[in-house]
Amino acid sequence: MTDSLLEVRDLHVRFNTPRGVVRANNGINLGMNTGESLGIMGESGCGKTVLILSLMRLQQPGVIVGGSIWFDGREVTRLTQKEMQTVRGKGIALIPQNHSTALNPAYTVGEQLGETLGRRQGKTGLWQTLRAGTPGAGTRDYENLRHVLSGLGFNDESVLRRLLASYPHELSGGMGQRVLIAMALLLEPKLVIADEPTTALDRATRAETLELLGRLSADTTLMVVSHEVETLVCICNRVAVMYGGRVVESGVTGRVFSDPHHPYTRILLQSQHLIRGKPVSSAAVALDMVNFPPGCPFHPFCPEAVPACSREEPPETVFDSGSVACHLYNGSGTCSK
Ligand code: SF4
Repeated sequence: MTDSLLEVRDLHVRFNTPRGVVRANNGINLGMNTGESLGIMGESGCGKTVLILSLMRLQQPGVIVGGSIWFDGREVTRLTQKEMQTVRGKGIALIPQNHSTALNPAYTVGEQLGETLGRRQGKTGLWQTLRAGTPGAGTRDYENLRHVLSGLGFNDESVLRRLLASYPHELSGGMGQRVLIAMALLLEPKLVIADEPTTALDRATRAETLELLGRLSADTTLMVVSHEVETLVCICNRVAVMYGGRVVESGVTGRVFSDPHHPYTRILLQSQHLIRGKPVSSAAVALDMVNFPPGCPFHPFCPEAVPACSREEPPETVFDSGSVACHLYNGSGTCSK
């Protein structure tokens, strides 16, 4: 019996724009087992946000033009939008980047967490659930809120009550982040996706959030999207590096970061000063996702390119603990020239 929870096979997503067709996802293969924590890493524009939106079928106006996504035994790429309502939230819950844009400024934290609980119980009308207000002390819903929020550091009853009565603009960055995490956890999802969870935070709040997500990953299936190595090292046991809408390297986090096999991974890590402590500049130049180069999309910038790189797209070589898509990778854990 397999404990596979998520399987993305050869996923292609396109956007039609006035400039032309943007190839946001170009044959993504990815899998997750229950209990794993997987980091998705890559620079802005590499297709990681489109990927997580596609998992929830929220990638519009992008169109899934090829491949499939399987989640918890169902092919979500074939489900109707109505059927997707049973996947979003209870199946896959998203922790957005920024609480100030994700929360409704007109309602208190308690009212919005109460609405989330209503959703978990199958109430679908926004007004119906928001009108119910903050769950009253002593009710089962209040105990549920208290249980989840105390796990996120709101142990003191008076602090908890103040939080529930607060409006989003009254929250600090760290408090807002924890409210978003609470919203996701209240739904008891099978997979939690955190989208750039530390990007907009100051250093102290960032450390706090990393510690929190690290603890969460111990008993939650967690996907973390980030361009920061430190974030993924702290939280994820596996990592997938994306470039040009494709996973170019994946594997156990420690191996990928200490012994990267793909030239792009090496440059990405060097740009974050993490290889042998040497500060170097990033050679990665933004790829034009409309006028996609032939062959390996990284070849115009790759310091290790060989003639075949500009002609043939490199195949994805899968091995025990990961994969590499590069002409130089010989499948034995080393690259040859
Ligand atoms: Fe560089 Fe060629 Fe490998 Fe692409 S396939 S990363 S261009 S060596």
